[in-house]
Amino acid sequence: MSLGLPIPKIGLGTFGSDKYSGEQVAEAVLGAAEVGYRHFDCAAVYGNEPLIGKSLETIIRGGIPRSELWITGKLWNDKHAEDDVIPAFEKSLSDLRLDYLDLYLIHWPFPNFHAPGVDVSSRDPHARPYIHEDYMKTWRQLEELVRRGLVKHIGTSNMTIPKLDLLLRDAKIRPSVNEMELHPHFQQPELFEYVVRNGIQPVGYSPLGSPSRPERDRTPEDTSDMEDPVILTIAENHGLTPAAVSIKWAIQRGQIPIPFTVKRHQYEPLFQALSAPPLSGSEMQQISQIDRRCRLIKGQVFLWQGAESWEALWDLDGTISS
Ligand code: NDP
Repeated sequence: MSLGLPIPKIGLGTFGSDKYSGEQVAEAVLGAAEVGYRHFDCAAVYGNEPLIGKSLETIIRGGIPRSELWITGKLWNDKHAEDDVIPAFEKSLSDLRLDYLDLYLIHWPFPNFHAPGVDVSSRDPHARPYIHEDYMKTWRQLEELVRRGLVKHIGTSNMTIPKLDLLLRDAKIRPSVNEMELHPHFQQPELFEYVVRNGIQPVGYSPLGSPSRPERDRTPEDTSDMEDPVILTIAENHGLTPAAVSIKWAIQRGQIPIPFTVKRHQYEPLFQALSAPPLSGSEMQQISQIDRRCRLIKGQVFLWQGAESWEALWDLDGTISS
């Protein structure tokens, strides 16, 4: 339970990217449920919801009540138009073989099409910056899903403070969650504190620093959380892996981590780490000092004509870039 939401403290990510097939991810969902995971972070664009749906059906038939599961879905960028939202949601719901979702997010605040897997230099000629009136039209459809009882909570992903300011001003149903990149080298303290202050639960993606992300998402400046001496020392002192330390840090800080892996020898110890003794106040403090402000998922493919750099997507000067 966190910020009043009945969301499990850890979820399993399901984005296999170019590296893992839908079958492998679906198998991991089954195995993860066996070891105790109840929360799965899905998205239409991951291309594997029909296979994950079969696993969820097996899990529920196997005796884990639907009410114990937390299933998140996400609306992809090419489905923001008012008439597209509910059909896109219904497709995910039917692919996942469910009759409601616990959480539905707008995956990115930009209605820009880009094919999955394209190079970071690829640009959509029709791409546009954030337009609040359009975002609200999409949001109203998510609110309608809540009213119809098809989704319990709605939320945002990859948002910034100025964009959330407008959404909080205009929403009839407020976001319950903001999904954002969060790991020891990218702690986003201002946005983290903003969402918590506004009663929005932060869910942290790439919680291990996404060590296996594709080449196209790497830059020479990127740092590696799992090799940080502070993380390594704390791991050694606790007899845990660096990955488990990152997960414990995330949960103790108050975010919900959603690590991805298809390997039981990786997901099982991450779940077990929840019940290991907590990191001390001094260890939490040491980790708070190693933030490198190293954003890994920069979002270049969402850029519009005239935008100079990926930084425009993140409103770094506190105003919405146009
Ligand atoms: P993670 O930080 O979870 O890194 C995943 C990689 O870490 C795995 O591929 C694996 O590498 C390695 N790993 C996993 N467990 C362990 C372990 N116990 N010990 C050592 N290494 C481990 O980042 P992701 O970028 O994959 O993000 C996780 C999830 O977040 C996604 O699956 C997705 O659900 C969500 N997400 C959401 C986004 C959004 O826009 N809302 C954006 C990005 C992600 P290997 O495979 O080589 O073993």
